Amino acid sequence: MAVRPSSRRQFFREMTALAAVSPAVRMIAQAPARRGRTRLVLLGTGGGPSPKADRSAPAQAIVVGDTVYLVDCGNGTPRQYVRAGLAFPALRALFLTHQHSDHNADYGNLFLLGWTSGLAQPVDCYGPPPLVRMTRSFLEMQAYDIETRIRDEGRPPLGPLIRPHEVRAAGLVYEDTRVRVTAALVHHPPVAPAFAYRLDTADRSIVVSGDTSRSDALIALARGADVLVHEVLYAPAIDRLFGTDSNARRLRAHLLDSHTTTEEVGRVAQAAGVKLLVLSHFVPGADPTVTDDMWLGGVRQRFGGEILLGRDLLEI
Ligand SMILES: [Zn+2]
Ligand SMILES: [Zn+2]
Repeated sequence: MAVRPSSRRQFFREMTALAAVSPAVRMIAQAPARRGRTRLVLLGTGGGPSPKADRSAPAQAIVVGDTVYLVDCGNGTPRQYVRAGLAFPALRALFLTHQHSDHNADYGNLFLLGWTSGLAQPVDCYGPPPLVRMTRSFLEMQAYDIETRIRDEGRPPLGPLIRPHEVRAAGLVYEDTRVRVTAALVHHPPVAPAFAYRLDTADRSIVVSGDTSRSDALIALARGADVLVHEVLYAPAIDRLFGTDSNARRLRAHLLDSHTTTEEVGRVAQAAGVKLLVLSHFVPGADPTVTDDMWLGGVRQRFGGEILLGRDLLEI
């Protein structure tokens, strides 16, 4: 049976209203122990752009009351967002650390797909150039679907809901009544600028390193923070990955120059004096021969605080 467009629109409006009070929002409201406490949910913890069976690409959700802030939006983020029980009407802002595809592949998709699941509010997006051009191009690429859904399902235009702001320098990036977000310029050649972000809320300070080699700017940004989510590279596995020919040596040198080894991560966390270090963005991301002890060993020798091995959907 054909459904008339007007009743179809009614159906989608009702679906959207349902999504607006989705289980995520209710879950937060019903958890008194967590109420008011800032939560960090690791949506994806695998480093590098290759799709992985056991880890989604990097993304972190910081939940303040009923409001969600995202740092990075790699492949799989919209689905992980839903799996974490988060609601799209709760999304307020997104911060991209840099424009590598493992950190931005689902920028655009997050909004296009969230739009059919209750996202009807503008979301401010911060990240290095060319964020404005990427946004425009994405909307153009998906114009057919967007226009169809506006016409067929009565949705509001998607374009005005995505508000890109290009970040070009370190410093204060964003502030509202719940959170203050500060950026530091990190070292991730050849990608520049690349940023780490610090989110300060009333009860917690959380820093996300993005991709970087050992960075003094990051150490300064993370000084005294409650939580530091830091990327990590296990150097011996990289040797196995690339072999020894000259091109392999060049690739290996490049990786080591733009990422942080387990030993260096420990040093960075110790120098910053953070309370909790969370390892994430694992490189290699899918190598079962690298055990938990191998990831932790080099870090433990240099950092005296608490360490967590990140995994997808871990809530901290
Ligand atoms: Zn990366
Ligand atoms: Zn990168």
